[in-house]
Amino acid sequence: MEQVMESKHPEFAFFGGKIIPISDAGVDIRTNALQYGTAVFEGIRSYWAEAEKKNYVFRMEDHYKRFFDSCKIMMINIKYSINELCNITKDLLKKEGYEEDSYIRPYAYNSGLDLGPKLIKNDQDIFIYTIPLGEYLNLSKPIKVCISSWMRIPDNCIPPRAKVAGSYVNAALQKTEALLGGYEEAITLSSDGQHVSEGSAMNIFMVKNGKLITPPTYNDILEGVTRNTIFELVKNELDLSIIERQIDRTELYTADELFFCGTGAQVSSIGNVDGRTVGDGKMGELTKKIQNIYFKIVKNEIKKYSHWCTEV
Ligand code: PMP
Repeated sequence: MEQVMESKHPEFAFFGGKIIPISDAGVDIRTNALQYGTAVFEGIRSYWAEAEKKNYVFRMEDHYKRFFDSCKIMMINIKYSINELCNITKDLLKKEGYEEDSYIRPYAYNSGLDLGPKLIKNDQDIFIYTIPLGEYLNLSKPIKVCISSWMRIPDNCIPPRAKVAGSYVNAALQKTEALLGGYEEAITLSSDGQHVSEGSAMNIFMVKNGKLITPPTYNDILEGVTRNTIFELVKNELDLSIIERQIDRTELYTADELFFCGTGAQVSSIGNVDGRTVGDGKMGELTKKIQNIYFKIVKNEIKKYSHWCTEV
């Protein structure tokens, strides 16, 4: 947060169909989405490639595809195409003129003022803003996490595969519990309380005996774009495959390596779970390799993945 307050950015937002000063973008206190969380959003990163003096937005189209999926689930109609949203995002970033990494937040919401939570017969709108964003989780050393006493929401309650604004109450409870307990992040168990699901806003991977394992989609995870990137890079660059299977809580205690991944989190090593040291407590070899390759890919340094990097 300090970073945002110190910076002159953001100066602009896409709001009401045009790019305007962000200080002029605001909603009525009666807005349905503000009252009931009836909105969906995305989180996208743009990376500053210092050597080239260029900004690259990472997997922008894939994020907007998930945005449309979230909208479909939540019955929000967007009057722009994916291509138009990508162009608006590029225009917004050009106007900001970042020379640092940034984060893009598209938000589609029920903008009507009617009382009552419902997804139909509402006005709907979209806004986009950006902020400078460095590390979201500490990348320099493995972080300390706990298993949250708050479990992940099931698909038949608030679908975790959609990025629904209101569902982040679940994430906020997890993260707050972790911070109050002296941890940096939380891992939640699936809605049946039996298996590892994910972090408050990131997916999780485990390394055990040279095998890379991650929870399956049916354990109430958000199907992360970064998770998918890890699948691709591990297959292509490390000739390893990933096992998607349920993970028990205590498997985390005896894992050789653990890491989180996400647009915000990037690739972040976990060094301690519930007071148990993971491996030798240092960042694991495989995690380090994946993190290195990931940062090369997002900065368009490996041409094979250039189609994922949109120049601003
Ligand atoms: N899970 C949750 C709950 C999230 O909010 C995020 C961040 N979007 C992720 C996982 C990671 O998803 P992605 O890699 O697409 O950012």
